Amino acid sequence: MQLPQKPTPRVFSGMQPTGNLHLGNYLGAMVRWVEMQQSHECIYCVVDMHAITMWQDPKELKGQIRSVAAAYMAAGLDPKRSILFNQSQVPEHAELAWVFNCVARLGWLNRMTQFKEKAGKDRENASVGLYVYPNLMAADILAYRATHVPVGDDQKQHLELARDIAQKFNNDFKPWIEKAGHADGAFFPLPEPVITGPATRVMSLRDGTKKMSKSDPSDLSRINLTDDADTIAKKIQKAKTDPEPLPSEEKGLEGRPEAENLVGIYAALAGKSKAEVLAEFGGAQFSAFKKSLAELCSARLGPIAAETKRLMSDPSGIDAILADGAARARALAKPVLDEVKDIVGFVRS
Ligand code: ATP
Ligand code: MG
Repeated sequence: MQLPQKPTPRVFSGMQPTGNLHLGNYLGAMVRWVEMQQSHECIYCVVDMHAITMWQDPKELKGQIRSVAAAYMAAGLDPKRSILFNQSQVPEHAELAWVFNCVARLGWLNRMTQFKEKAGKDRENASVGLYVYPNLMAADILAYRATHVPVGDDQKQHLELARDIAQKFNNDFKPWIEKAGHADGAFFPLPEPVITGPATRVMSLRDGTKKMSKSDPSDLSRINLTDDADTIAKKIQKAKTDPEPLPSEEKGLEGRPEAENLVGIYAALAGKSKAEVLAEFGGAQFSAFKKSLAELCSARLGPIAAETKRLMSDPSGIDAILADGAARARALAKPVLDEVKDIVGFVRS
């Protein structure tokens, strides 16, 4: 199969099955994923190979993969219209990641802040996989020559690295890329980050300076997409705040990260601006605002939780969807990898 000379517009993104999806994943990425299905060819992945860069209990991992896939669908991903699969079923991701391990430079990876945060103080003991995570992420995207990547703000640096890798590959192999029929020497597109969700960086409910994360040991730090109304109310009630009432203008949120976060979440869920939210709640005590926020949050997440639960009652149904998605993904990635092998000079039968 001859690949088109220029990559066609295509969306790729993924989430790790490292735990329950949360409000940050939803507002930061998933809302945009669902929308982009209307305008683009979309590929959405459960990135299980990324998940094992940190220890995952094999007893739990299958269930986590299925529950992330179920949450995607519950939030509005249509597995017929888009491609939905788990990463480890498409070996081309790992194959291309190896080539990229040989394209990316150590100096580039040394700058990645996610590695520094996740490895913590005991860096010597972090997995090598955690260190080369961004190369695999570049491979996830570029195995499909994807052009647009909707992600949260924390992934900006990894996206820049993916663009650097694509550019270096195009430069290093230019003559062979041209020989393969790509006249302008641009085999890989430079993928565009799409960081434009309603809340591109949702912060932890326990610490307004840390992002909300699946892997945060405290469940009180996040609102899971599967939390029921009581749990949501409890978590929001316990969310860290300061003693001042809410300001009436955005300026008044400066230096108050927890207040800013809760107002941002409310605004994103209500489809309003922060200024509009403050016009309504300015002067109110947090207790009253938190009550309204909890109600809004349950109203929005309740149907997603119920649908996830329904889908999870049929694990083999989810597995069949993932298998179908993997076959469709592979049909796209295999010809890209074939050309990559020709370009770098491998013998292939
Ligand atoms: P982990 O702690 O295991 O890294 P995570 O919560 O960071 O989990 P990922 O699977 O790494 O979730 O990221 C999936 C997507 O969700 C990415 O696009 C990421 O940018 C986005 N995302 C993650 N956390 C947030 C957040 N707090 N606010 C906005 N977007 C987020
Ligand atoms: Mg993450």
